Amino acid sequence: MAIIFHEHFMNSNYAPDTAAREGRMESVMSLLLKQRDYSFIKPETAEIKDVLRAHSEGHVNNIKKDEKIFPMALLAAGGAMKAAEIAFNGEPAFACIRPPGHHASPTSCWGFCYFNNMGIALLKLKSEGKIKGAFVLDFDAHKGDGSINVLSDYPEVKILNPFSGDRKSYLSEIKEYLSNIGEIDIIAVSAGFDSYEKEVGNKLKTIDFYLIGKMIKKFSNKLCDGRRFAILEGGYHPKYLGKNVLSFYQGFE
Ligand SMILES: [Zn+2]
Repeated sequence: MAIIFHEHFMNSNYAPDTAAREGRMESVMSLLLKQRDYSFIKPETAEIKDVLRAHSEGHVNNIKKDEKIFPMALLAAGGAMKAAEIAFNGEPAFACIRPPGHHASPTSCWGFCYFNNMGIALLKLKSEGKIKGAFVLDFDAHKGDGSINVLSDYPEVKILNPFSGDRKSYLSEIKEYLSNIGEIDIIAVSAGFDSYEKEVGNKLKTIDFYLIGKMIKKFSNKLCDGRRFAILEGGYHPKYLGKNVLSFYQGFE
């Protein structure tokens, strides 16, 4: 399993928001880097042409005005692209990146997001003719409105933001959806750990992230030669974030 990470993501000063908060990345990487069978890969910054597949020029220019946010947002998009590429080539990948992206729409953004990392990654693979159909599981506590908007012209990319009220039915909803999905070429996960029972989502237990990861692994093996990647979205409490990411990683790897 490949872990996509760049030391610049440790920088907590790129924005005065919760996703940039100190302790988040430390919480995750201190545990991930102890795993045995991982390869550690540094992403490159996304190019503007990659971002423009998902966003308007006006939006890119707006983000560009902030000289701290802009390079971090480009690097995060580059991290998602790298994870998608590695997954396409056969090795599962997890991109530990920030800022998150799933609330970034073609011409606007909110919720600590600037560029839609997931959309940029999938549209790159599509532009290269590598994939047609894809499945995006977004298990963040908040609906990934940006990803839905960015990918709305592509009905062959199916997005699920599970909404079931308790953890058992939440897991069943994912399983049910994947059991009936039809043809896909890759599975992509917007991994938001604020759906944890002690964060704002107030729903999933640590073991559930493992079970979701394992389910995605199983279905990707069945449906698309194991091609799967995940990118970090929300999850804000350093005390819980690392252990929940690790739990997901252990099921997903
Ligand atoms: Zn969230």
